[in-house]
Amino acid sequence: MLSVADAQTAIRAALQPVMAWELVPLPQALNRILAEPILAPFNVPAHDNAAMDGYAVRAADLAPDRPTTLTVIGSAFAGHPFTGALTAGTAVRIMTGAEIPNGADTIVPQELCTVHDSATVTIPPGQKAGQHLRRAGEDLAAGSVALPVGRRLGVAELGLIGSLGIGSVRVYRRLRCVVLSTGDEIATIGEPLAPGQIYDSNRHTLTAALTRLGCDVLDFGIVRDDPQQLRVRFTDAAENADVVLTSGGVSVGEADFIRQLMSELGAVHFWQLAIKPGRPLAFGRIKNAWLFGLPGNPVASLVAFAAFARDALRYLQGEDPVTPAEPIPVTLAHPIRKKPGRQEYLRGTLARENGTLVARVAGAQGSGILSSMTRASGFIILPEEAGDLPEGATVAFLPFAVVF
Ligand code: AMP
Ligand code: MG
Repeated sequence: MLSVADAQTAIRAALQPVMAWELVPLPQALNRILAEPILAPFNVPAHDNAAMDGYAVRAADLAPDRPTTLTVIGSAFAGHPFTGALTAGTAVRIMTGAEIPNGADTIVPQELCTVHDSATVTIPPGQKAGQHLRRAGEDLAAGSVALPVGRRLGVAELGLIGSLGIGSVRVYRRLRCVVLSTGDEIATIGEPLAPGQIYDSNRHTLTAALTRLGCDVLDFGIVRDDPQQLRVRFTDAAENADVVLTSGGVSVGEADFIRQLMSELGAVHFWQLAIKPGRPLAFGRIKNAWLFGLPGNPVASLVAFAAFARDALRYLQGEDPVTPAEPIPVTLAHPIRKKPGRQEYLRGTLARENGTLVARVAGAQGSGILSSMTRASGFIILPEEAGDLPEGATVAFLPFAVVF
């Protein structure tokens, strides 16, 4: 059996990111990956400005050991700068974000000042020259890299690009991902269920997970366990996509003719992994596409997606660096029985009890039981070598929100 980490490494070593790019308007760039760096076209902030409401003064005017009274010669608001210049003995009323007037070098916060009438203000001693200023370029200097190539564009990134006055961005093209289910027993919504049939869940979970990642999903439906049909559909899929995600057909007993088909169409490994749920995984290349043959059981296919496909897809999308999701260390609320030898992904919930984050296993853990996924908020991950774990043990918790 191959360890989870070794399979992840082998997958990464095989992949080549998609390099084609397109120009997209900023509002459509959410979740896309930058294909060129965003450079600041100007200093941010563009000018020295006030970090607080108060008075802009010249530090040289302030007596170090007693209050100083200055003449107020005007005011500066954000977007409405003071157009004159400070001379000795003067101050300008200033609001947060307003440009520092010529001649001023220090801001005295309003609450420290005593205003006698609108024309004079008294400043207490103890001010530091240059205090409460935001310097031009302190956020981003003109020409510096605001966002590097490979960055996934999230909420903050879109705001930053907008703040630079940039309306469209070069991003890698979307990954085209085929999703298909295999199995004589799998039915699609709208079909009546024949005896022994079940409705497809994997196409829905995988489509949703791929959509969250920003992939284009091509739904190839259900393919029967028939070598001829499988050959036609796999060939079609591999010719039309960057990635083909299948579910089912890789378990022992079922894998044989798929294995034979894959060796005709390309180069695919059929692994037995030290993971639970979901021991079997196929990975490789058929024609121009990467193939992920995920296990058929609905929870096992999601575990395999989270453990193997997700970061591989991020890498193929051009994301750089691909930082793996970091599980949170939490405390077990109850003992867990486990045999060493496989890394286990249990469905769990998280609660804060007396200030400690505590995890509990959520419901039945059969690899086909999807309802307990909906009652859980993440995976409790137990390392391959671990045996039984006592109440109070520290374990890793990976929130679903991070991986799906
Ligand atoms: P397999 O790997 O094809 O032997 O499938 C393992 C188990 O997962 C079987 O009980 C299948 O019925 C079930 N299964 C396979 N594909 C799906 C699917 N798309 N949706 C729901 N269950 C599935
Ligand atoms: Mg099957």
